[in-house]
Amino acid sequence: MTNTPADTIINVLDQVIQSADKPAHLHEPRFNGNEWQYVKECLDTGWVSSVGSYVNLFEEKLAEKCGVSHAILTVNGTAALHTALILMGVKSGDEVIIPTLTFIATANAVTYCGATPHFVDSDAHTLGIDAVKLDNYLAQNTMQSNGNLINKNTGKRIAAIVPVHIFGHACNMVTLSTVANKYNLPIISDAAEALGSFYHNKPLASYGDISAVSFNGNKVITTGGGGAILTNDDKIAAHAKHITTTAKVPHKWDFVHDEIGYNYRMPNLNAALGCAQLEQLDTFVESKRRLAERYIEKFSENDAVRFIQEPEGCRSNYWLCAIQIHDANKRNETLQSLHDNGYICRPIWKLMHTLPMFQNCPRMDLAIAGQLEQTIINLPSSVKLGLTQ
Ligand SMILES: *Cc1c(COP(=O)(O)O)cnc(C)c1O
Repeated sequence: MTNTPADTIINVLDQVIQSADKPAHLHEPRFNGNEWQYVKECLDTGWVSSVGSYVNLFEEKLAEKCGVSHAILTVNGTAALHTALILMGVKSGDEVIIPTLTFIATANAVTYCGATPHFVDSDAHTLGIDAVKLDNYLAQNTMQSNGNLINKNTGKRIAAIVPVHIFGHACNMVTLSTVANKYNLPIISDAAEALGSFYHNKPLASYGDISAVSFNGNKVITTGGGGAILTNDDKIAAHAKHITTTAKVPHKWDFVHDEIGYNYRMPNLNAALGCAQLEQLDTFVESKRRLAERYIEKFSENDAVRFIQEPEGCRSNYWLCAIQIHDANKRNETLQSLHDNGYICRPIWKLMHTLPMFQNCPRMDLAIAGQLEQTIINLPSSVKLGLTQ
């Protein structure tokens, strides 16, 4: 009998995951710290909404943890991205460079600005934007005009680049920064999955001109729903806080709003959860890295499956562990067998340019992203699975 990819993967999962932990989901939250205490304090004091001491405390601790001057909390990661794009000058009619291989939020945030996603290809190693391919593409398809970078094919301005650190693995930010500088484009980093990762010994979420993180229920740490904008720029930070709180000018009793704003502030209840979760970030990441090590060791015994490892220069949080199978035709049957065996694995997201609302957006050749999309499978990656037994 020949081994199918499913046989190989199930064999490894049976060795790494205890049967008591089945069904094993992709990423379960874990609340073993001060969550109850902090949330209870919000309820006891009545400070549950968007003003409260946990909002300030979480912002302070998060900025410190991410090695940036300012963190501004938002209701979710998508809102953080949307706000970050606005702050970096993305306007209606612009194009914004994003990978086609990403979660829907990246593309949606661009469209909330009235801008159009411009899809680029990925690097098979980092899973992030292929910066060299992007450089060649921009050289051929753009021109400078009045200090703006113009897409020669559409006549539209290209306003920014949004790299995404997929599953916590860093994009090649060294090369990407060089390319961004060459074309004078700001980098808005989608670090939604990257909290707790390091790149060249600095927190990965600190890279880029501005970045956005997420605290959704399935992320490394969670506030139920939530996100944050990270920046080193005092003025941008103040503006971020302003437009995420309906652009209300501080006043004892009057309602003055001086520009279009958003009701995007994170409530104190969620921030309380965030404070407790952030205290555990390091141990969560250690646990996730231990789980990844166990997978790496077991998968290295056969070459039917590639376990996706942290790229060079990156100490990944291994938010979601992922493998690549060789035969794209076997993906769905593999996923089915995994589910049947109590392993709730999933494919990576559908490519953005194949979705109905983004089909007509500008794009380059997307061959590598296409291969990755057809062959990647995410494995159970919860913190509890990597705890020392
Ligand atoms: C989770 C995620 C987001 C957005 O986060 P929400 O908090 O769910 O809005 C954005 N980009 C990527 C790549 C993500 O994984």
